[in-house]
Amino acid sequence: MKFIGAHISASGGVENAPLNAHAIRAKAFAFFTKNQRQWFASPYTQQNIDLFKSRCEELGYSPDHILPHDSYLINLGHPEEEALKKSRGAFNDEMKRCEHLGLNRFNFHPGSHLNQMPVDACLDRIAESINIALEKTNGVTAVIENTAGQGTNLGYTFEQIAHIIDKVDDKSRVGVCLDTAHTLAAGYEIRTREGYDETFSRFDRIVGFHYLKGMHINDSKKELATRVDRHDSLGKGVMGMDMFSFIVNDPRLDDLPLILETPDESLWAEEIQLLYSLQK
Ligand SMILES: [Zn+2]
Ligand SMILES: [Zn+2]
Repeated sequence: MKFIGAHISASGGVENAPLNAHAIRAKAFAFFTKNQRQWFASPYTQQNIDLFKSRCEELGYSPDHILPHDSYLINLGHPEEEALKKSRGAFNDEMKRCEHLGLNRFNFHPGSHLNQMPVDACLDRIAESINIALEKTNGVTAVIENTAGQGTNLGYTFEQIAHIIDKVDDKSRVGVCLDTAHTLAAGYEIRTREGYDETFSRFDRIVGFHYLKGMHINDSKKELATRVDRHDSLGKGVMGMDMFSFIVNDPRLDDLPLILETPDESLWAEEIQLLYSLQK
């Protein structure tokens, strides 16, 4: 069974997230654990937490289909000591917030070397940041998102993701989220049957399918290997519709949160129905 949803708003309180997901008939959802453009946020109250949990239960959302996302400010591979410390503190805090909500996975962008350190050293640093966070939290898997490779962002090749995982001590609590727009922009041709199969078997060979904990389902405004991260609404970008059909008919993606991060939220309900309609 496929669990398709969208990255919905949690403004006004995290307990609104399951309501917003339900309103668009999503079977999965993502949200920011706090304002994504600010460093600090006050902790969830017990009331936030209780309401979030009871609404998820009432509306049928299991933690396995909820994929919270980190804030954009965090860089777990930051080359400067002070900034790295700040990022790690914020990351640990967000992991804790997921733990408090009873969630089991937390999606983040790996980090950027900012042209101030070698790629391998930055990947090692990201892994160390994950190790620190896993030590301070319980029950939440750190889910590395593949990137488009824009600027100095790392994690755009399967080899880089494998490098990070290799250096994480607790392999049972690290995972991967593949974003279709990022995958294409990073240079993996997933639009044809052949390319899709080849990309996923390569992912399995280099990273391992068992690490996949969710996907972001986006069309892309940018072409193959442009290394630019610009999502588009389904069918409006360069992806074509075939790839979305491969996704919803791929049994390896059963039971994972499949999350839209498309730019026009007024289309999400339709896009979710469209994806379900592609199932054979
Ligand atoms: Zn994404
Ligand atoms: Zn993106």
